[in-house]
Amino acid sequence: MTRVMLEVGHGPYRDRTGATGFEEGASGPGTTEYKQVKQMAPIAAAQLRELGYEVEISDPVDTLVAIGQKAAGSDLFVSLHLNAFNRSAQGTEVLVHRNGTQEDVELAQYIQNSLVAALGLANRGVKRQGLAVLSGVPLTVRAACLTESYFIDAVPNAATAERYTELAGRAIAEGIDKYAAANGIKPQLAPVNKSKEVMELELVNVAKYYSALPHQIAALNWLQDQLSPQVKEEFTRRWRNG
Ligand SMILES: [Zn+2]
Repeated sequence: MTRVMLEVGHGPYRDRTGATGFEEGASGPGTTEYKQVKQMAPIAAAQLRELGYEVEISDPVDTLVAIGQKAAGSDLFVSLHLNAFNRSAQGTEVLVHRNGTQEDVELAQYIQNSLVAALGLANRGVKRQGLAVLSGVPLTVRAACLTESYFIDAVPNAATAERYTELAGRAIAEGIDKYAAANGIKPQLAPVNKSKEVMELELVNVAKYYSALPHQIAALNWLQDQLSPQVKEEFTRRWRNG
């Protein structure tokens, strides 16, 4: 099972003195960074879960150290943020820690490519930065990065932000999946005992094809239990050849 942790940037926090607070991150017209990445996380998570990943969304009142400790059980860690600068700068970038590994860069690059293709904004590339949230991610996590999908202060209105957020959520999931596929950690959805299951299905379908009578299907189910795998295989082969 491949585990992914999606960290929602900003929102509730606890500082080193134990005091709690809340911050919205950057702001755009009628919306904020936190509002958007909070929506983005479940969009990406739903798509990843459909592909067989185990996904945890992290939006805790926690210190960075505690977030890092929680991330230890995951294979991949992606922190969701949005950019802001001077209301005219545009584009998509994905960040890895200043001392990030080749794996971090590779994951970031897959996500970056996918985001650029989906949003159609300027490609600002994968960059290295000294990011506190990524420095807390333990080395047991195979790869980690932080997405800045678009500049929230440069969108014309909240509706555009919502549209970008939805596209970005899906693109991030797609990028993660492509990285996993390229590195042999994409979840296997097909059952291990595939050939036997396929055969059973085929035998039952023969019965349904001819009769659709429940007792005949039951009889066939009983019959196939009596057959050796070789006989079933031969049956399937002959049936296929007409
Ligand atoms: Zn941020």
